[in-house]
Amino acid sequence: MSWNRIIGQHRVKELLRRALEGGQIAHAYLFYGGLGVGKDATAIEFARALNCEKQRGTACNECVSCKKVDALRHPNIQFICSLPVGKNEKKGDDPVAVLTEEQVEALQEQLRLKAENPYHRISIPKATFIKINSIREIKRQSSLSMFEEGKKVFIISDAEDMNAEASNSLLKTLEEPSANTILILTTSQRDKLLPTILSRCQLVQFDPIDETDLRDYLTAHEGVEQDQAALIAKLAEGSYDRAIDLLSVEVKAEREEVVQFMRAALGTKPSLLLSEVEKIGAGVDRSNVERALRMLQLWLREAMVLRERGSVGVGQEYEDARRFIERFPNANLPAALESVEASIALIGKNVYIPLILTNLAFDLKKSSISEYSV
Ligand SMILES: [Zn+2]
Repeated sequence: MSWNRIIGQHRVKELLRRALEGGQIAHAYLFYGGLGVGKDATAIEFARALNCEKQRGTACNECVSCKKVDALRHPNIQFICSLPVGKNEKKGDDPVAVLTEEQVEALQEQLRLKAENPYHRISIPKATFIKINSIREIKRQSSLSMFEEGKKVFIISDAEDMNAEASNSLLKTLEEPSANTILILTTSQRDKLLPTILSRCQLVQFDPIDETDLRDYLTAHEGVEQDQAALIAKLAEGSYDRAIDLLSVEVKAEREEVVQFMRAALGTKPSLLLSEVEKIGAGVDRSNVERALRMLQLWLREAMVLRERGSVGVGQEYEDARRFIERFPNANLPAALESVEASIALIGKNVYIPLILTNLAFDLKKSSISEYSV
């Protein structure tokens, strides 16, 4: 079952499977949703199923066609993304032939990585937008006769990166659909696309990946141990990309760090608080501070669930939250969560980090000792 390659997204998979089985295929789709939820991966899988020689509804993974898609080397399937502009590139030029040897190599390497892992985010130096020549290629290629059975599928990845010329050219292509050609646009910024493009596509919304699906994937495919996978899945907010980023971070150590910060905030020793502020605020990367505060939010939410239901699940990791609830049974946790959210917003506004953290510490103490009735 090749749909199993897609993490979660059960509703979308069912929708596409039914379309395939019923032969009700639109000529253009727009897959939209957050970053790292599997839009490209699903587009590739859909293209594979559309070209499978053996069965309908889902790709067999065994026929010659399915194997070619595995390597993203199927003549019927084109993957379109941002590319650098070639020297003296003119309208009508082949968008790849105008690139330097080095750029072509970079493109091929990125496509190889994408074929290996459809969740891979393509990144090519100096490729800032999707060129009109790439879009014109769609028209040219769809007018050519088919080399193989099946459907020609053009996947336009991060379609919001099309410049104005490319968008207008695509619009024309959408207005005159050719038989046997299917376009799949993917985007995490739907609002940046022309309304006239949106109205010509079947819109398919992708939700954040379900926490349990992400956790199970991390344990089964990335070899992450259960506890850590559960924690990462909670922090990743339904994004594969974010989960993989978090894999490189010592999430457990970071969690311990925010618990220490919380202890210092609630304590009476300013020197201790100062050293915790320094630890979290160390380094120049503001996104690290944001991640730590997201971790703190998670911890506060755990405490909230613990207080309401008496348990969160199993595991030692909740011991610190339990002790907190025992000591501050009436803590105003919603207010504490709001303070953290406000601090995260300030990180984005370039406010001095130690100031944000010190203020947050005072707010946390205030909400912990204040009376709050559920
Ligand atoms: Zn097949």
